[in-house]
Amino acid sequence: RSAPRLFVPGPLEDGGQIALEGQQAHYLGKVMRVGAGDAVIACDDATGEWACEVVSAGKRDVVLSVRMKLREREDVPDFVLCAALLKKPNFDLVLEKATELGVAAVQPVVTRRCVADKLNPERALTIVTEAAEQCARTALPRVEEPTRLDALLRDWPEDRALFFADEQGGAPAAAAFAAHKGPAALLVGPEGGFDDTERDLVRAHPQARAITLGPRILRAETACISAIGLWMAVSGD
Ligand code: SAM
Repeated sequence: RSAPRLFVPGPLEDGGQIALEGQQAHYLGKVMRVGAGDAVIACDDATGEWACEVVSAGKRDVVLSVRMKLREREDVPDFVLCAALLKKPNFDLVLEKATELGVAAVQPVVTRRCVADKLNPERALTIVTEAAEQCARTALPRVEEPTRLDALLRDWPEDRALFFADEQGGAPAAAAFAAHKGPAALLVGPEGGFDDTERDLVRAHPQARAITLGPRILRAETACISAIGLWMAVSGD
């Protein structure tokens, strides 16, 4: 079987040892049933990916020795997903898929029609960590605290383009993405969409560029996933 892979607290260094407790020890010891001498792949979201060996696997803790660096931490495209908060299972899906596709960060946004205005940070971290482990990423996206749409726009950095996914129309997304160089973000609305005041506010913002993902109205999570996929295909090196 292939070696279990997991994110651990860093920094990892050649010849070092790490003692894991709690969920990580449970995963390695009870779920993966590792024993002394077994191989484990560990990432710390800072130095990269390392081959490790199990020194001991007890009931409550697992000790690893760090053997050799396998990969540097990946270069993450500077693309941020600003997604309106959705019902929990749908936002969980967005977090998972945004991680797989390779965003640098997820900024949850609270808008007038949002049915949720909170996000459990531990739960969000667990989802992005498991998604990154599953698809062998060596970096975790940051998950920011939810912010209101007006605050997001007010504090928006001048050097970052804000692609506004608008079902009412805009430039075709792939062409707009291909024409852009530099930091960027994608704004997607909630289940009920943006109201007219919000739409006007976003469209009037100097960094905002309305894009369309096609003539059909997509569910918010579909809009997030398809737009990130397009960005990564066009500009995500
Ligand atoms: N208010 C809309 C309605 O009920 O007719 C639906 C909003 S849609 C479910 C949720 C979000 O997905 C929108 O706010 C928008 O950001 C994005 N979206 C959906 N379809 C899109 C499309 N064809 N092009 C661009 N963005 C889209």
